[in-house]
Amino acid sequence: MNRIRVGILGATGTVGQRFVQLLQGHPWFEITALAASSASAGRPYGEICRWKVSAEMPPTVRDMMVEECAPGLDCDLVFSALPGEVAGPIEEDLAAAGYFVSSNAKNHRLDPDVPLLIPEVNPDHIQIISHQRRQRGWERGFIVTSPNCSVTQLVLALKPLLDSFGLSTVMVTTMQAISGAGYPGLPSWDILDNVIPHIGGEEEKVETEPLKLLGRLEGHGFQPAPMAISAQCNRVNTVEGHLEAVSVRLARKAETTNPTVGAVVEALRSFTALPQELDLPSAPRRPIVVREEEDRPQPRYDRDEQGGMAVVVGRVRECPVLDYKFVILGHNTVRGAAGGSILNAELLMAKGYLRNQ
Ligand code: NAP
Repeated sequence: MNRIRVGILGATGTVGQRFVQLLQGHPWFEITALAASSASAGRPYGEICRWKVSAEMPPTVRDMMVEECAPGLDCDLVFSALPGEVAGPIEEDLAAAGYFVSSNAKNHRLDPDVPLLIPEVNPDHIQIISHQRRQRGWERGFIVTSPNCSVTQLVLALKPLLDSFGLSTVMVTTMQAISGAGYPGLPSWDILDNVIPHIGGEEEKVETEPLKLLGRLEGHGFQPAPMAISAQCNRVNTVEGHLEAVSVRLARKAETTNPTVGAVVEALRSFTALPQELDLPSAPRRPIVVREEEDRPQPRYDRDEQGGMAVVVGRVRECPVLDYKFVILGHNTVRGAAGGSILNAELLMAKGYLRNQ
């Protein structure tokens, strides 16, 4: 099979580097273009990129010339790891020029004709793509988006609970790693020996994006899931892996027999979905791993579970205020960014959306 030619926008950044790493040896996708800001364009990737991923920079990309983020890139599929300040119009220009765009940026996530996608959660939402093309007059290209990194892991854990028991209320407090702010991110003076109880715009994303993800596609529009979410987001002194303390109220609890803690654990642990059924190359065997130890998950020990593509849930117990509470850990630059976006593209490939016409 000829592999799909892939470009990475923001290839020199934290998420861009993760794309470069994860796409090495990918069975369906091959990196043929790397792009970043005009300050980096025109220089070899190996020279301009301050490589921060723990393995070596792959030799195949070292001599590739970094290009401008604009039509003309030698690829069909574009992964966008651009900052929200610039991503919106660049991604639209590329989609209008016929590129398939899979974005990590915030700009188009809530557009009414753009899928906000987690393949285990709402794979049917990709059907809006034909409407998006018609609406925008794009013959070939389109945009799909991945959620905010804290949202991906939260929604993956909420999905089986919603399906099994219903959900009405979610309270979440995040402890988010430094890499979530990109490179160089926060000054060490601000984050060492410290917790910062504010991440600009994050709480709004955590309170709104899950409603679209867990909502329904009806005709040409998304109906948000009827639940309330309250988020408090904190930046903490870890490098990778966001931890979240979550309490939930189950919607059907009053009408049905209360599920036991064991039933909640079983719903989480047994969850699999379309990516596992289709055996997509980046799909974790088990999207949710439940740990029984009283002090897990922990970022340092659990973030790389199944290559960073699974989320780890622990400390499932009754909540004296809502119904149940637990802790979730997810790898923010893998499942929460590049890996999640690659899985989105694999779903699109499996469903025939990346065919050359
Ligand atoms: P980052 O480390 O700051 O990297 C930003 C990248 O964008 C660099 O490659 C930079 O290129 C490029 N860039 C900056 N300004 C540009 C411009 N005007 N035109 C073209 N390229 C430009 O940021 P990041 O953490 O990788 O985040 C990238 C995106 O992913 C953001 O939208 C972020 O919200 C989202 N995201 C991040 C995470 C995470 O955990 N970090 C998780 C989920 C989503 P130069 O090197 O040339 O400046």
